Amino acid sequence: MFNTYNKEAAFAVEAVKTAAQLCRQIQRDLVLRVTSKADHSPVTVADFASQAVVARSLNVVFPDLPLVAEEDSALLRQSDQAQALELVQHYVAGLYPQATSSLILDWIDRGSGRPEGTFWTLDPIDGTKGFIRGDQYVVALALIVDGKVVVAAMGCPDLNARMQPDHDGAGSIAIAVRTEGAWSMGMADPEWSRLKVSDCGVPACARMLLSYESAHTDLAKIDQIAEQLGLKSGPILMDSSAKYGLLAAGEGELIVRLLSPLNPGYTENLWDHAAGALLIEEAGGRITDLQGKELDFSRGRKLMGNLGVLASNGVLHASVLRALARVGADRRPEHK
Ligand code: AMP
Ligand code: MG
Repeated sequence: MFNTYNKEAAFAVEAVKTAAQLCRQIQRDLVLRVTSKADHSPVTVADFASQAVVARSLNVVFPDLPLVAEEDSALLRQSDQAQALELVQHYVAGLYPQATSSLILDWIDRGSGRPEGTFWTLDPIDGTKGFIRGDQYVVALALIVDGKVVVAAMGCPDLNARMQPDHDGAGSIAIAVRTEGAWSMGMADPEWSRLKVSDCGVPACARMLLSYESAHTDLAKIDQIAEQLGLKSGPILMDSSAKYGLLAAGEGELIVRLLSPLNPGYTENLWDHAAGALLIEEAGGRITDLQGKELDFSRGRKLMGNLGVLASNGVLHASVLRALARVGADRRPEHK
């Protein structure tokens, strides 16, 4: 299908598909046993199982390439987490019968690779809070070469083939290869169709996609930006990189990721944006930070050189950057 990175793209599609289907199975079985990481973000059996199966496949297909992923096994190794580990093992062994607890812990820890040169980055469940609520979440996997995302794949259990929300369907997959375009397909109807951003050039008509979690943004500033742009419709609230899928498919025009005054020092994670960024660019859109700087994926596990994220259909990007500057959304907020 692609002229470059064919093997990587095929691998990424299979990996996110397997992981997304496993997450959905765990969600349907109601294994929503939430435990808490040190930073209090919820992490479930499915996060660990998803990371384990992608890392296992990487061991087989790309044994020499590092993986930089969100989870590590420290929590699961604690004695009071024995039941959670047993559940992870149960689900992973459903796919790979040889998977012992000890192998699974090692697979999960493959995610602590060095983010340098050529490496994969994975968010095993982006939108864990959405997953727990029964809303949107995705499995996001990307290949980075010298700071540039070159392959991006997203497994989206609650989006349809055209990247529209659909909680009853089979889910979908999106794939992009640098300079070769972005595509999506339904998991049950494997025919790729090209992703293309909306051509809306009128700021007032833009549909803004916003984090469902109000603590991840600054709602007062979002209101000011909406006013500056004269937006006619209110924001579409959605968890996770599913927002990037919608934007790439023309189901919205803007994603504005502001810094929350509750957490003004926040720096974005590599795995939260790598796959989405390439999908947007290859669908004809634009993605920068809130100051208009390119996202820099060469700075370790976090986007240390950037402040928030603005993704758009491209045409509207400059107008929105001006609106962000006018309301002071291009600076770190004061702590509240
Ligand atoms: P979203 O649903 O778009 O807000 O994206 C979910 C992601 O937000 C998670 O994967 C977290 O890494 C990230 N996140 C966690 N806390 C914050 C915060 N205070 N500000 C912005 N993003 C956050
Ligand atoms: Mg995430």
